[in-house]
Formats: sequence, structure tokens, C-alpha cells
Amino acid sequence: MAIALETSVSQLPYIGPLYVKRLRRLGIETVKDLLFHVPHRYDDFSNITPIKNAQLDEKVTIQGKIIEIKSTQTFRKRMNLTEAIINDKTGAMKAVWFNQPYLTNYLSKGQTVSLGGKIKLSKDERIISNPSYEVLQSQNSKTFHTGRLVPVYPETEGLSSKWLRYKIQSLLSLTNKIRDFLPTHIKKSAKLFDLSTALREIHFPQNQAYAKEAKRRLAFDELFLIQLFSISQKKQWQDQKARSIPFPEQYIKDFVSTLPFTLTNAQRIAAWQIFKDLEKHKPMNRLLEGDVGSGKTAVATLAALAVIENTFQVAFMAPTEILAKQHFESISILLSRTNIEIGLITGSETATNFHGKIPKSEFLKSITKEELPIVIGTHALIQDTIKFKKLALVIIDEQHRFGVAQRAILQQQNECVGYAIPDNKIIPHLLTMTATPIPRTLALTIYGDLDLSILNEMPAGRQKIITKIVAPANRLLAYQFIKKQVAEGHQVFVICPRIEATENAEHNNISSQNSWSSTLAREVKSVEEEYEKLSKKIFPDLRIAKLHGKLKSQGKNEVMSKFKNREFDIVVATSVIEVGIDVPNATVMMIEGAERFGLAQLYQFRGRVGRGEHQSYCFLFTDSTSAVTHKRLKAIVNAKSGFELAEKDLEIRGPGQFLGTRQSGMPDLTMASLNDHTLIREAREQATKILAEDFHLKKYPLLQEELTTFQNRTHFE
Ligand code: ADP
Ligand code: MG
Repeated sequence: MAIALETSVSQLPYIGPLYVKRLRRLGIETVKDLLFHVPHRYDDFSNITPIKNAQLDEKVTIQGKIIEIKSTQTFRKRMNLTEAIINDKTGAMKAVWFNQPYLTNYLSKGQTVSLGGKIKLSKDERIISNPSYEVLQSQNSKTFHTGRLVPVYPETEGLSSKWLRYKIQSLLSLTNKIRDFLPTHIKKSAKLFDLSTALREIHFPQNQAYAKEAKRRLAFDELFLIQLFSISQKKQWQDQKARSIPFPEQYIKDFVSTLPFTLTNAQRIAAWQIFKDLEKHKPMNRLLEGDVGSGKTAVATLAALAVIENTFQVAFMAPTEILAKQHFESISILLSRTNIEIGLITGSETATNFHGKIPKSEFLKSITKEELPIVIGTHALIQDTIKFKKLALVIIDEQHRFGVAQRAILQQQNECVGYAIPDNKIIPHLLTMTATPIPRTLALTIYGDLDLSILNEMPAGRQKIITKIVAPANRLLAYQFIKKQVAEGHQVFVICPRIEATENAEHNNISSQNSWSSTLAREVKSVEEEYEKLSKKIFPDLRIAKLHGKLKSQGKNEVMSKFKNREFDIVVATSVIEVGIDVPNATVMMIEGAERFGLAQLYQFRGRVGRGEHQSYCFLFTDSTSAVTHKRLKAIVNAKSGFELAEKDLEIRGPGQFLGTRQSGMPDLTMASLNDHTLIREAREQATKILAEDFHLKKYPLLQEELTTFQNRTHFE
């Protein structure tokens, strides 16, 4: 059978079901996937040196004949030792391998070999230690594992870089079959490799410079596709029309003056940007970013007021019932001096601030009759039984929990209702909010279709949360402290990290698309274990609840409501707790395995406490003694804002942590360095240019096709 790019890896020679499964774990199903499995670094064995010149502690490649090879068992340490003597024109050297008894099956006396490794000293003798090896068929046969920059791949249990190198190398000629979707003039003007050259060089580069250029090409592709997508989204969005909402300046000023606080400068600026957007006939599409407690809801409420004052309606969507209810309550308080009726709709209830719980049919009728100017709710808001007459603003909290698809539904539905105006194409303005501190460069790259407002300032007078890194020796002290807090009537959050996966734990067929379920299983396991420990051993007298992703939405709501009502002292949870839950009486946030979380995420967890008037505490438990870990955790102790931390995390850990979850609808960047501003700018300029020339990419069918695939892959739709 001829091997093609689309050929399934299961049809390749010497790949059995076990390896197919392992490959699938890396997201590799076809030959093409394998060719696109790019190394994350290289081992530099490019220094091929005569044996005589091999220097101590250097990474080198030596090439010569095997004079002698033997494998022995060391009794004392129960180790297998393979030793060989290699000879070239300049001298001889011993090579030593540990625990690779099968080596003598591959290597034998008389063969010419190439060995790449580090030169070490053993009993006053220079040896090459644990080298990579390959047999040379002739004097100048090409090497793949030694004598060059050797690719090191993302691996998985049972699948080594060496194995991947063999397979990829044997398929490398197929890169010629890959059709390059990038138009020639773009490659020329941005000075980029061909796709096939880039792929060959990313795996087996001639030198560092080639490796860098190969990476640059592949990174450009990702950035370019993202930009194409977001620029065309933005244009399509702006080609639609929206209600112009004149800014009711005096009304808003009067309202703001009745608030029990003064707005922060950041809130003022964000609100102003929103009012300007709302005045346009183009629909707003703005992302409001700000730390927990920075006052996003207050800003959104001002936007809502401007719309309501103009006799239009507002829909406010939250990701969970608890959050919808919380918004309903806090907005009801904020608007208590107005006579605005506010609706709440969730899977389990319909209510308004004036009438309390009311029957659903009545509730739906009052939306349609325009008696409810603002409706807050969960997904229930996008059921098609809900018919707004004059919807002009949609606010979405924690937007990355909602897919683009849902946003689309919301628009469509309004189009159906159609406002009864001549041009049916009018859609509501859209304001999305997130507490995930996404650094600006990253936000502009992945959310290029959105305008951005950032609340980078906290309201004055917030108390500082006392944050401590807790080493194992101080664990008991921390527990005692928690006991005391509970005795004083306060409550505690305990966050557990996910338990790392091993091959045994992942016995089911878990494809990379499907790894969500295994992630979930691991989170559940860690919560269960912590729950057992705390409720049986540490705090047997306290009332403890557990919360994880496996609980149904209703179960979660129940636990959180009870916690809010002080029916539990402690809640043990996974990161599900992350989004805006407000429990003012909780004063302790305890985080197990703190080193496993991103800085921004830890910062978010901490934001769950210190929301009331009581002094609050955050304990970061860690067993790690690594200096780097402590430096990272220290950054939280000293952090001034989530954004500052997010920037730091982006530097230390790369964009993966922000983009990690596929179901969040964010693109899956593997190559792109988001610190490479020049490349980002280049990609944006090229994308702008080509769309200006040919918006539907009719002249570039390959590119068009690639863009479609990209959109589907990243769930952008
Ligand atoms: P976020 O949605 O960003 O988490 P909220 O808008 O819910 O923040 O605000 C958190 C709390 O702070 C609320 O109780 C709100 O009334 C209050 N708040 C909002 N803005 C200010 C401000 N400028 N000064 C003082 N308190 C404020
Ligand atoms: Mg909030």
C-alpha cells in the first residue's frame, strides 16, 4: 500500500494497536499529524569530534568502529551495564550505558557507529556516557540521532523521542506532498520557508539558524490564521447594524452620584468607552477584563442603565445558576433607588425583584411585553421561548465559558424577533466580561475581533489578604489556625490540584479530543482523597462538603448555596470554584499543591476570600523545595494585580496555560511565541492586506480551506 498523508498511523508498518493508542494520546491519527508533531527542543550533538579531541563535560558525537562490546550485571546495585570500546583514527574511548540490556542485540563488534553524548570521567578515564547511538552503513550515511541537532518531542508514556524520530524520519519524504496554503507573494514578502522545507527543517535542521526559520514559518501560520479569522469576524460583525443608544449623560451622572462609592478611574474610562460604542449604529463587541472585585458588574450595570433609559432591553447572561442569582441580587441592590424591574431566569426558577418568584409563563409574557427591561439568567436565556421585543444589549459574564456558537444563537434569535423595523439585520450590542487576566498582547492576538477595556485598578480601601507559603513542617500549625477561624464562625475553601495521569490510570481509550473526561476523573479523585483526609482525620468535628466537575449543575448549586448559608464550614473543591462565587463569610483559602497551578489561577483563587469585612488569609501548601517554585509563589505574595502576574506567567510558562482548554473555544497555539511582537505584527499586516484584496479568499482556495479547518479545529465555527 502506498503511504499518503491521510494514511492512518495504524496502517504503517510496525505500528500495532498499543502504539496507535499511545499516538492518539498525543493527538496523532494520520501520517500528516505525525509530520506536524514538532519537537519542542533539540539536543545539540552536532559537534562531531575525533576521539582524541573530545573534551570533558562537552556534548559531542564520536564516530568509529566497535572493537569490543559486552553486557554485565552489577550485583551490588542490581544494574545492567553495557560497555563498548570505540576506535577512530585518533584513538579509542569507552562508551557506557546503564540498564539497556537489549543494546547488544543492535550493536556488535565490527560495526561503525555514531554515538552522541556527554564526555565524563570514570576512574581517571574519559568515557562517553549513555550516548544515543546509530549504526553507520557507510562512511557518509546521514545521521538522525547523533551528529546533529537531534529533535526532542513532546512524549507520552511508552512513546519516546527516539521512537518518534525513527518514524518521522522514515516518512520525511512525504513532506513533498504537502500543499503549501500560503500564497507565494506572502512567503516572499515575509521571507518565509516553504511549508515542506519548514517541516523537514523543524525535525532535522541543518543548524540552529534553520531550526529557527522553520519554527518562524510554522508560528507565522498559526498567527496568520488567527488574524485572518478575527479580522474577517470583525468585519462581518461591523457590517451589521445596531441600535444607536444616545448617552443619557445627566441621568447616568445622577445615578452615579447616588452610589455608596466613587468609581475608580479605570471604571470611568471603561464605562466611557462603552457609552461611545453604544452610540454607534455598528454593534459593539467589547471585552471588559478585570480582577475579581475590580467592579466589572458595576460598569456593566451603567451600560445597562443607558440602554434602559433609552427604552430598550438588556439580557445579562452568567455561566452558572449561582452566579446568575448573585448578579441578580447585587444588581437589584445597585438599582434599588431606581424603579427598574429586574428579571431572573434559571433552569429552576423565574423571579423579579418586584414580585419575587413568578410563574414562567407570566415571566415570558412580561419580557415580550417589554415590562422587564433587564433579564439576568443562565443558558435559560437563550431558549427560543424567550422573545425580547427590544433587545439592544447583551452582557455575558465569564465569556470564555460560552462558546461563540451560543453568542451566535443569541443574535439569531433577536433577528427572528426582528424589532419590527424595516431592516431586519439589527443585532444587539455585545459586552463580555472576564476575570481571567489575559495579558494584552495575548488578548489582542486571540481576541483580535474584540475591543478591549481593562480594569487594572482596585476600588480603594480593600483589605489586604494575608498570604503565606506553607511548607510541610508547618502544616499542623495551618490546620490549627483554620480550626480557630471556623470556631470564630468563618468558612474555608480548600482547592486541590489534579492528580497527574499515568498510563495505567488512563486505561480507557482516551483520545486527545476526549481527554477532558480523564482530566475530570483525576480531579474527582484528588477531591475525594482530600475530602476523606480532612473529614476523617484532620477536622472530624467540622461540616465539610465537596465540589467537583462531575457533580451535575444542580448538585453544585446545592453545595454552594448551602455553603453560602453557612451549612458547611469547609468546601473542598477543584478549580470549578474559580469563577466569581461570592461568600463574604469565607476567610481562608487553602490551596494544596500550589506549585501545580498557574500564577494567574492562584491569584483568582485568592480572590474568593477577602470579600467581606473580615481579615482573610490565603495558604499556599507546597512540598516543593525548588527555588524556582518558591520564587513563583512569592510573586503571588507580593502581587499588585492579576495582570502583572499573568504577564509573568506568560514569560515563565508560555501561552499554553491560558489556552490550555480546548473546550474554551480558544485556539490551540503550539508554535507561536506571543512575546514575538514582530511576527505578530507581520501576521496581522499580511492578513489585513490579503483580506482587503480578496475578502472571501476566492483566489486562494488552499488558504480558504486551511482557514476552515483551523476554525473547526479551534471550535471557533
Ligand atoms: P467584579 O464583577 O469585577 O468582580 P463587582 O462589580 O461585583 O466586581 O464589584 C465587587 C464589589 O465592589 C461589589 O460589592 C460592588 O458594589 C463594589 N464596588 C464596585 N465598584 C466599586 C468602587 N469603585 N468602589 C468601591 N466599591 C465598589
Ligand atoms: Mg463578578
